[in-house]
Amino acid sequence: MNTIDLASILKIDTPSIPWQCPHCDHHATLKPQDYSIANNYSKNQSAPNDSKEYINVQTKLIFCPNGECQKYTIYVSIYKAHTEYTQHSGTKIINDEYISGNIFYPNVKLKAYPDYIPQAIISDYKESYQIVELSPKASATISRRCLQGIIRDFWKVKPGKLVNEIDQIKEKVDELTFNAIDSVRKIGNIGAHMETDINYIIDVDKNEASILLSLIEMLLENWYIAKHDREERLRKIKSIADIKK
Ligand SMILES: [Zn+2]
Repeated sequence: MNTIDLASILKIDTPSIPWQCPHCDHHATLKPQDYSIANNYSKNQSAPNDSKEYINVQTKLIFCPNGECQKYTIYVSIYKAHTEYTQHSGTKIINDEYISGNIFYPNVKLKAYPDYIPQAIISDYKESYQIVELSPKASATISRRCLQGIIRDFWKVKPGKLVNEIDQIKEKVDELTFNAIDSVRKIGNIGAHMETDINYIIDVDKNEASILLSLIEMLLENWYIAKHDREERLRKIKSIADIKK
């Protein structure tokens, strides 16, 4: 999900633009009917009084042309701009200089995970990620449920309190990974409430909630993905060995 060509998308001035959808990763050529552009043009109040500096905040709304996706993506970019009047097209905003721009929606930092990881875990992770800025408390609550889901699914522990479930895997996981989990449970309120029900809403700040998310990302990599890759390699070796027989 990280391979969006922002450079080309931020300057829409040709009728068709090569584009990759951040939702479905499909490559497409955008036609005018796939996007709409809105300009918010105003005088730059921070520039000197006599200057003719204008700022244009441009939002681009794009619908994915892939029939199975059709989700929307929003980009916001800022330009220095001026207006021009012609008899033919009336007043038109001309962007002179590109200042800054970014994808506004969806959050592309969100990692795409393979579908052999249980859907419930992925959707908890995504939800937690999407609300971490807006509501760290809610994010941390979902993250704890996600963490518990991962430990239960991957290690088949005896269900109990999160703190006991973590203790059950101590001898099974590598030391580095266990230390990471252990250090998270020592962080402020996250640690203080390891004993309480995972649905209990704890008061955490954005940093604490983000650390929980990083831990989840690390576990998905170290456990599910590493295990899958290992199995794939073994399968390949076995099939080569079978041919040689
Ligand atoms: Zn798409």
